[in-house]
Amino acid sequence: MLPLLVIGGVAVLGFLANAAKVSADVDPPEEKVPDPEGKDKPKNGNGNGQEPGEIPGIPYVGNARVLRVFVLDTLDKPLPNGAKDIIEKNYREAVYWVNREMHFGIRYYPYVQYFSLPYTTADIRNVVLGPHPRPPEYDGQGNKIPTNSWLFFHFITDWMKENTQWDAWGGGVIDESWLFMVRGAGGFAGGTDPQPNRPGLAIVGDAVLSAWLGDAGLEVNDAYKYVFLGDVDGREEWEIGYKGPQMSEYHRRGYTTRNAQIGSFIHEGFHAMFTPYHLGDLPEFKETGAPSNIMDNWWDYPFPANKRVNRGGVYEEPVHAIVRADARESFFV
Ligand SMILES: [Zn+2]
Repeated sequence: MLPLLVIGGVAVLGFLANAAKVSADVDPPEEKVPDPEGKDKPKNGNGNGQEPGEIPGIPYVGNARVLRVFVLDTLDKPLPNGAKDIIEKNYREAVYWVNREMHFGIRYYPYVQYFSLPYTTADIRNVVLGPHPRPPEYDGQGNKIPTNSWLFFHFITDWMKENTQWDAWGGGVIDESWLFMVRGAGGFAGGTDPQPNRPGLAIVGDAVLSAWLGDAGLEVNDAYKYVFLGDVDGREEWEIGYKGPQMSEYHRRGYTTRNAQIGSFIHEGFHAMFTPYHLGDLPEFKETGAPSNIMDNWWDYPFPANKRVNRGGVYEEPVHAIVRADARESFFV
């Protein structure tokens, strides 16, 4: 399977190897989000609280940080009544799943912060897509970086710095990663690893928010308008000559269920927390494809827990293999 690139409201995946699957919605027990100040509080500053080998068989995540979630709505699309309850219900489900499946100290803050941007969804969309049509951008390895990603990250974090107490760039947030859920950001979904002087950063957009709020009946779920919009030639919506989405609306809707977008939320948060690799990008899985896991086919959330990955004769859960992977990159989507 080709690597999945979801950023800038779209995904670059050439041809889908997997058809979208829609899993049944099952509400998990109403568990409290773990309290990072309580028993899960790290014993040291690395944000993980575990030393290598401390507990046999439990992977060590060297730089995992606690994830803090911000929701930013817009002038023309404020959160509807009841939205905070729904966002926090889905957040709780994501955290519940991660804690159950990962078996080690990945931590989330028990609160969600809300802010209202003094912009419209169109303003945000213009920042995400940039001047268009325009040619694609590339990273140092020749991979397409299909939006002005950093411009958007800076747009949000600069606004936060100027208008709230939250400053990603002041050097004071070294034990956290931040995930922004932004109205108007469409299908933008990206995350970048933590640095010594700033939190890891991730952003998701309308795809997650509308899928969650739409499932609860608070608004119409229009997330299908924003995801997997690549055309028959692999071009994205901002590229010159874009012909419109190759994937049918029916299939795009399959990627924008509540479950699928919980998977996207978890996936991007992981990038910001501890820089996991997309398992399918590793050489050992190039031929066979990676087993089903949150860092590849996030849309299949929730996954069966009984799959194992053979890495050098050792069978382990895909999520563990992900965090053990040696090869890491600095910018993920
Ligand atoms: Zn990713």
